[in-house]
Amino acid sequence: MTQRGSYVNGQEVFTGKTYPVTHKYSGDVLADVAESSPAVLDQAVEGARAAFRQPLPVPERVRILQRAADILDRDQAVFARTIAQEAGKPLKDARAEVARGQQTLRYSAVAALTLRGMEVPIRGNPGTESRLAFTVRKPYGVVLAITPFNFPLNLVLHKVGPALAAGNTVVLKPAPATPLTALQLAAAFAEAGLPPGHLQVVTGSSPDIGAQLVADSRVRLITFTGSAAVGQTIRAQAGLRPVLLELGNNSANIVHEDADLDLAARTLAVRAFGFAGQVCISVQRIYVHRPVYDAFLQRLTAAVAQLVVGDPEDEATDVGPMISEIAAERAFDWYEESLRQGARGVVPSRRDGALVRPGLLVDVAPSMRVMAEEVFAPIAGVVPYETFEQALAWANESRYGLQAGVFTHRLELAWQAVSTLEVGGVIINDSSSYRADNMPYGGVKDSGLGREGPEFAIEEMTYQTVAVFNLPAQPAST
Ligand code: NAD
Repeated sequence: MTQRGSYVNGQEVFTGKTYPVTHKYSGDVLADVAESSPAVLDQAVEGARAAFRQPLPVPERVRILQRAADILDRDQAVFARTIAQEAGKPLKDARAEVARGQQTLRYSAVAALTLRGMEVPIRGNPGTESRLAFTVRKPYGVVLAITPFNFPLNLVLHKVGPALAAGNTVVLKPAPATPLTALQLAAAFAEAGLPPGHLQVVTGSSPDIGAQLVADSRVRLITFTGSAAVGQTIRAQAGLRPVLLELGNNSANIVHEDADLDLAARTLAVRAFGFAGQVCISVQRIYVHRPVYDAFLQRLTAAVAQLVVGDPEDEATDVGPMISEIAAERAFDWYEESLRQGARGVVPSRRDGALVRPGLLVDVAPSMRVMAEEVFAPIAGVVPYETFEQALAWANESRYGLQAGVFTHRLELAWQAVSTLEVGGVIINDSSSYRADNMPYGGVKDSGLGREGPEFAIEEMTYQTVAVFNLPAQPAST
C-alpha cells in the first residue's frame, strides 16, 4: 500500500499514524496518509517562518509559478486521474480543473509582476510641501491555507499562487479526503524550483490539526475555503489576524420569459447536478417566470434525464458519487424531508451508497432545508414567479450571497439584477456556477469575506506600508 506523509521542508514526514484515503466510487484505499502530530505541525510552521526570511526575488517567483503551470500542463492526465479518484469528480471535470489550475498559476505570475503601491498626494496639506509619500505592499509572512475537498487543485492554487506571488510562505492543510492532489502539487512546485519551506503540506483527518494551526500565532494570515460553520469557528479563533473566507451558497438562478429556454435548461441541468452538485456555486434554487414555467420545466427535466450517473473515471459520466456515504445520507434525508413537507420530485432522486441520483423538486417552500440551506448535493428546486421583482426578492432571501445567474436578454432587467442582488457575482445568460479564474470571486453575508482571483487575492495577502519622506531643500552642493 502506498504510504504518504506530510510535506515539510522539502521532505515527506511520517508519524507512524495513518488514515486511509479512498477512491470515492470503488471504495478502494488509494493510500495510507500520515496523521500529522503536533510536532510535525510545529515543524511545518517554523520551517515556513524560516523560509520567509529567505525571500525570493520577484523574477524568480514568476519563473517558478510559470514552470509549475507548465508541469501541470505536462502532467494533466496524472493530476486529473488523482482528482477523479480521491474527490469522485467526473474525469472531464477533473481535466477542466487542471486546465483552470494552470490559468490560476499564470495569473498569479502576472499578479507578482504588477503588484504595486501608489503615491499619496499629501503635499496639499499645509506645511507638508517638502514631503513625498507613497505606499509599498508587503507580504504578511506565514499564510495558513485551509482548503475543501471539491476542487483539490484549483482552489488550493487560488491560495498558494497569490500567496507565493506576494512573497509569503504557505502552510497548506488540504481536506482530509483529498490530500493526494495537494502532495502532487507540492512535488510540481519543488520540480519548478520552489525552495524547501516555502510550501508545506500537512495531512491528517483530525479537526485538531486545523485548530492547532489556526491557534499558532506565527501564522500571520488565514485563508479558508469551506463550510460557513467552520469558517465562523476559524474567524472567532483568529483574533486580530486577517482572515479570508470563501464559504457556501444556495445559489439562485432566474429564468425570465424572454430567455433562451433551451440554453437555460441545458446549462442549469449540468450546473445543478454535475459533480453531484458539490460546487459552492452549484445551481440550487431555480425561479422561473410563470408564462414559460411549463415549457421550461419540460426542457429541464429532459436535460436532467440525459445526465449520465456513475463511475467518475468513465469518460461519459456527469454525476459521480458524493464525497462520502455520510454526506449522501444527509443530503438524501433533506430530499425525503422536503417530500414529506409537500414537495414533489419531478425527477425523483435515489440513493445507493454515496451515489445520489439527480432530484428535481417542485412545490417547494422557502423554509424547506433543500431551499433555505446549502444542499451541496444533486438536488434542486424549481419555483414559478409572477414578477421579476418577486424573483429578485426571493433570491435575496438567503443567509448566503456568493453568486446568482439570470437568464434574460432584456438589458434593463439584467442591470436591475446586478444592482439588486446581494451577491459577489451576477452572471447574465449563464448559471451562478460560472467562474473565470481572474475575476474577483467571493461573497457577502454568510458566503464569506474577501475576494479571490490572483490580482485581488494578492492585495488581500499583502499589507500597505506608507513611506513618508521629508525632503527639505538642501543648500546647493559645491
Ligand atoms: P469543510 O468546512 O468541512 O472543510 C474545509 C476544510 O476545513 C477542510 O480542510 C477541513 O479539514 C478543515 N476544518 C474542519 N474543521 C476545522 C477546524 N475546526 N479548524 C480548522 N480547519 C478545519 O468543507 P468541505 O466539506 O471540505 O467543503 C465543502 C464546503 O466548502 C461547502 O460549504 C462549499 O460551499 C464550500 N466551498 C466554498 C467555495 C468558495 O469559493 N466560496 C469553494 C468550494 C467549496
